[in-house]
Amino acid sequence: MGLKIYINGEYFKKHQAKVSVFDHGFLYGDGVFEGIRSYDRLVFKLKEHIDRLYESAHGIMLSISLTKEEMAKAVVGALKLNNLDNAYIRLIVTRGAGDLGLDPRKCKNASIVIITDSIKLYPESLYKEGLSIITVPTPRNIPEALNPQIKSLNYLNNILAKIEAINSGCEEALMFTAQGYVAECTGDNIFIIKDNSLITPPAYLGILKGITRASVMGIAGKQGITVKEEVITRHNIYTADECFLTGTAAEIIPVIRVDKRIIGTGKPGKATLNLMKEFRKLTKTDGVKY
Ligand code: PMP
Repeated sequence: MGLKIYINGEYFKKHQAKVSVFDHGFLYGDGVFEGIRSYDRLVFKLKEHIDRLYESAHGIMLSISLTKEEMAKAVVGALKLNNLDNAYIRLIVTRGAGDLGLDPRKCKNASIVIITDSIKLYPESLYKEGLSIITVPTPRNIPEALNPQIKSLNYLNNILAKIEAINSGCEEALMFTAQGYVAECTGDNIFIIKDNSLITPPAYLGILKGITRASVMGIAGKQGITVKEEVITRHNIYTADECFLTGTAAEIIPVIRVDKRIIGTGKPGKATLNLMKEFRKLTKTDGVKY
């Protein structure tokens, strides 16, 4: 049958799924989005993703014509229609078509797009062996200018950091705040394990408040692991016992090398492997069924 893509309440074949070149999402990155996963016909953390989407939209004064309940139904509807058991869902709301000026008032109707597909960020071997990452000079957007908690369509800050990593032969970049504290990677949050505590930077520093991040903190808390949101430095990363990244697409991926410094034993750590196992269990049991 081929993939069907939802645009403003209608479904289109992949090659016919188009938006206007006057859409301010295209012209200016004026819009917001979410990446969501489904596992064995359960949409993982759908409510959390929809809540974050509406918060991002609220932050940029973008009103969405659907209620949250209607939006959740539309996501589930697209998954059902495409008969996908396991999917990566890209939910996008743009300012809509306007003229060539910035003025968002010219955009009368926000566009809602739902793409249900699959995603594979890293090969399976990296989940077993661990990832090597590099710190990059481009700082994460300063929250006073464009808060990284808004998941906007403008990802150039992250793309520039990604280019720096690729130029240095690495797949992922660790970004810092303008003050030099650890922020996050280009599409993932970062965690370290130190002296049996799980530590991740606080959202107020200017990072995306990841939904996988929250799940991992919840799992660790239930297991009696001390969980801390703490400002950390590059040195804290280098001297961590374990390190891993979290994100909807990447899930949990161990990090074994940062700037050529070996982290811990140089192999995915015990606590990380355990969290990966527990996270896998959660994705199989927790979710909106379709
Ligand atoms: N940080 C950034 C910049 C991201 O783009 C993402 C992925 N959306 C994350 C962190 C991880 O967030 P989540 O776990 O909600 O996917």
